[in-house]
Amino acid sequence: MKARAGLELMGGDLAIASEGSFGPHPAMPYLPCGRELVLLLDRYDGQEFVVVGEDLTVETNFRREALRSLDEVESFLQQVGYPSHAVVVETPGGEVFKGITRCKELRSAVDRALQQDGIVMLETDMRAMYNPTRMLAIARATQDLVSKLQQICPQCNAPGFVTIDRLPGLPCGWCGQPTSLTRSIRTRCQCCEFSQDALFPDGLQTADPMHCAFCNP
Ligand SMILES: [Zn+2]
Ligand SMILES: [Zn+2]
Repeated sequence: MKARAGLELMGGDLAIASEGSFGPHPAMPYLPCGRELVLLLDRYDGQEFVVVGEDLTVETNFRREALRSLDEVESFLQQVGYPSHAVVVETPGGEVFKGITRCKELRSAVDRALQQDGIVMLETDMRAMYNPTRMLAIARATQDLVSKLQQICPQCNAPGFVTIDRLPGLPCGWCGQPTSLTRSIRTRCQCCEFSQDALFPDGLQTADPMHCAFCNP
């Protein structure tokens, strides 16, 4: 939607857009994680082609906590990389101070909230210009986009010949039954729809029996 809105505003047929989100890790909910997308939209001949670079990482300072003392505030700030990373201070009355990197500003907002209500809400400022850790994640997502664009379709030479599916069934090293590990990957071209399966993308032809439902139930 961002990429399309950019094209509507500026004209042209090629747009890049990025978007980040933060929350619990999909597989390990007790860990905070960040997900960055950097997308290239190409409008060609009335059709849209999209290639998406992605970065999913637990290298994030994403955090939001209710704090009750200056000591708690101090330890929060150390953990989130303040002041190279900005924070957001929120008072129980609903006042919000964003992009705080100066101790004077921080102190006055925190003191006021603690004195009035005995509690203050601190949150990391996740806007990219205030968050160098996030800048690195966006750079990795961009690298991912570049390497996907460098994968060329063997049929029509279009860029973005990328994996669309990982197919399970890698055979167990003991009994030969299929496991849930990846046996092959499917790559497909958006332009000519040519697709190709490649066996053993992880370099393994058999699975460790610990992944076998039969040998290691
Ligand atoms: Zn193609
Ligand atoms: Zn087995």
